[in-house]
This record gives sequence, C-alpha cells and structure tokens, in this order.
Amino acid sequence: MKDANCIFCKIIDGAIPSTKVYEDEYVFAMRDINPQAPVHILVLPKEHICCADAIDESNSVYVAKIFEAIAKIAKAEGLEKGYRVINNCGEDGGQTVMHLHYHILGGVKLSEKII
Ligand code: 5GP
Ligand code: ZN
Repeated sequence: MKDANCIFCKIIDGAIPSTKVYEDEYVFAMRDINPQAPVHILVLPKEHICCADAIDESNSVYVAKIFEAIAKIAKAEGLEKGYRVINNCGEDGGQTVMHLHYHILGGVKLSEKII
C-alpha cells in the first residue's frame, strides 16, 4: 500500500528519481540526497509504514527483509570495516520523512556516538 502524498512512496514508484542501490520484493534502497558520510544509504520498506512506532506483527516482515538487505548492501559497498545503522522515529527522534527508513552510514571512522 502506497501513500500518494509520500515522497518516498513516489521514489519507490519511480515518479521521482533517485540513485537506487538495491531493490527486491520488500525493500528499496537509495543514496541519501544530503550525505553525512562517504556512504549514506536509505533503506525503506516498499509498503508505506510511517515510522518504527507503526511496526507490528502485520508488517514486521519488512523490517526483517530490510536488515537482510542492509547486510547485502554493506558488502556491496565495501563496508567490511563496519558501519552504523540509524532510525529516527517521530518528532522527538528527529524524523523528517514519515516513511520508515534506516540510514546506513559508513566509509569513514564515524565519530559523535551518542550511545
Ligand atoms: P530522517 O531525518 O527522516 O531520518 O531522514 C530523512 C533523510 O531523507 C534525510 O537524510 C534526507 O537527506 C533524505 N531525503 C529527503 N528527501 C530526499 C529525496 O528526495 N531523495 C533522497 N535520496 N533522500 C532524501
Ligand atoms: Zn511512503
């Protein structure tokens, strides 16, 4: 199910261009338009799920498939020394696009850990 007003749904449908790095039945991944590291990829479910807070037993297969894809993408991007996976959830979490996504950040020794 797509949301007609969602920018990431439009990207998944090809109505808005993106730099796609991976796609399968459940998952779409693209380079972030405003990269914060040499490798900065967004990994999204192909179904419109607003945020981590909306994950439940009806849609959690997308999360499993996202993390399977993350491992594949990291290998394809040469991130054998490691990387960080981040999800921002909701207003206090700093989420700006309300379609669930996980950031993969890598290609450099990352600093500024908050945990
Ligand atoms: P959030 O702040 O919601 O965790 O992350 C949203 C991310 O989406 C940001 O890093 C932002 O740069 C990225 N972004 C916003 N609009 C677009 C777009 O149209 N295309 C791509 N590739 N990334 C986008
Ligand atoms: Zn969406």
